[in-house]
Amino acid sequence: MQYDVITLFGDIIRDYCSYSIMKRGIENGIITVNTVNPRDFSHDKHKRVDDTPYGGSSGMVLMAPPIFEAYESIERLDNSEFIMLTPQGEPYNQKIAHELSKKSQLILLCGRYEGFDERVRIGLKPREISLGDYVLTGGELGALCIMDSVSRYLDGFLNKEDSSLNDSFSEGLNGRLEHPQYTKPQEYRGMKVPDVLLNGNHAEIAKFRQNESIMRTKIRRPDLM
Ligand code: SAM
Repeated sequence: MQYDVITLFGDIIRDYCSYSIMKRGIENGIITVNTVNPRDFSHDKHKRVDDTPYGGSSGMVLMAPPIFEAYESIERLDNSEFIMLTPQGEPYNQKIAHELSKKSQLILLCGRYEGFDERVRIGLKPREISLGDYVLTGGELGALCIMDSVSRYLDGFLNKEDSSLNDSFSEGLNGRLEHPQYTKPQEYRGMKVPDVLLNGNHAEIAKFRQNESIMRTKIRRPDLM
């Protein structure tokens, strides 16, 4: 999977990807991460990429030309998807992560300031994705959420210990929330690990976990049942 992120702040992307499982994914050649800075395509001698909105109002808007040219500088592979991060897009979820994991390239466009000149959306026709009904300062966190969650589906990205098979929302759990987890110590401040998890009876443990998963999904997220 190749990720090409169009961003004014490439360090945010590179920094996150230099830790833990993302770092290992890059080192093992499972994912590639490139960043492209629209500022490199500015026509302005001060390298400006934003300007005041027509019609007036506060804030600055990202200009269309540097965004178009940054996008056009990226080689599109077969089976790629172009995504714009915007609070006005379709709400992101695990199903979309799974769907995107079947692509070979994701081009992720991150906004800043008041967002993009509308002609970016009209002219480049990206798939618009939102992280949720709140407004962030920039699209980089959204791009990283997509990259991280999509990568977890890629063969060889997670090792056995990190397996995503039984994560919340996964097909392994029919989309439900995961059961509660415990580790050592066996007792902490009077709170004990449930006996069933200590008895080594795998059938009972599986039953307990399934019941817990169903119960907590019913209580917390009945919409997922
Ligand atoms: N003025 C825009 C609006 O009201 O729709 C919000 C612009 S926001 C301050 C700047 C950038 O952050 C956006 O262009 C987008 O890339 C990113 N962003 C903010 N909230 C987001 C969200 N919920 N999901 C995805 N991206 C978001």
